[in-house]
Amino acid sequence: MSVAERRILRHDREAELAAGAESIGLSRTEFLYLERADLPSEQEQFEDAVAALRAAHGMPITFRTLDVGADKLPLSVTIPAGPNPALGIRSTRFSLQRPDILKRQLRALYRASATGPLRFMFPLVSGLDELKRLRAVCDEVRGELGAERTAHDGAAALGVMIETPSAALTADHLARRCDFLSVGTNDLIQYTFAADRENGDVAHLHQPLHPAVLRTLKALIETARAAGLPISICGDMAGDPFLTWILVGLGFRELSMDRDRLPLVKAIVRGSSVEEAEALVREALAMEEAGEVAELLRSRLEGRFADVIDGFIPLPAAA
Ligand code: PEP
Ligand code: MG
Repeated sequence: MSVAERRILRHDREAELAAGAESIGLSRTEFLYLERADLPSEQEQFEDAVAALRAAHGMPITFRTLDVGADKLPLSVTIPAGPNPALGIRSTRFSLQRPDILKRQLRALYRASATGPLRFMFPLVSGLDELKRLRAVCDEVRGELGAERTAHDGAAALGVMIETPSAALTADHLARRCDFLSVGTNDLIQYTFAADRENGDVAHLHQPLHPAVLRTLKALIETARAAGLPISICGDMAGDPFLTWILVGLGFRELSMDRDRLPLVKAIVRGSSVEEAEALVREALAMEEAGEVAELLRSRLEGRFADVIDGFIPLPAAA
């Protein structure tokens, strides 16, 4: 698929609206960087974001800053792989190593923020130090745009993805210096179990229903509530209808998923009550193994939501 084709797909927001989305919770900006020899210019990134916002008809879009490295390698830059790319330079770590690229992207997105509701989201933040450094670059960019009298929304929200155990354990500190949290469960699970998500040999260790994951998510909800901060999930767990009761029961109210999953997850939400999801979570949190939780879920959902669950391939831990 060409970059242009990809862009058209990404900007098919009409379909998102039709599917019943209320916002775009994760716009993956790296698509503009992959499969091409050059880096996108500020103007190109600006135009891309403006086109997305226009097509979204006023729906807020959360733009994730560049998330490359590990499995996503642009041709235009060299990213030191190191002995273990998933644990090396990737994502925000790369952006902080290349502030020129980060600044160009932030300038483009801040300029676009003058044209529609836009939020920034920083991926793979390891802790407060990185967040402070990211915020400093945002301050610098806003200062420059202000001095140039270039239109931008200086109050555009800045959010942090919780994708590492270190970020999860210090989410209260991060929460004091950002506007929202979004849990990237794909990476959070990878790093919680120290199991490379690209390595099929350890796929069995990716267990979204494991007590380690459930406890982490519960703690994150409590932290966000205490800080009065919105929290969402944008990893694959959010779009798995088999897991909807768990996420709603834990307290998540914002789920970001592929548009084809929206009707499935909505069917589960509409066909159940918060109270029964909360009751199920209380049972699940008392369990010691992911398999037990999967069985509990299956027994509750199969009778009532066979049409939604049927044909859907559950994540490995739920199999
Ligand atoms: C995640 O890690 O859950 C996530 C949404 O980011 P990605 O899958 O792009 O790493
Ligand atoms: Mg991720």
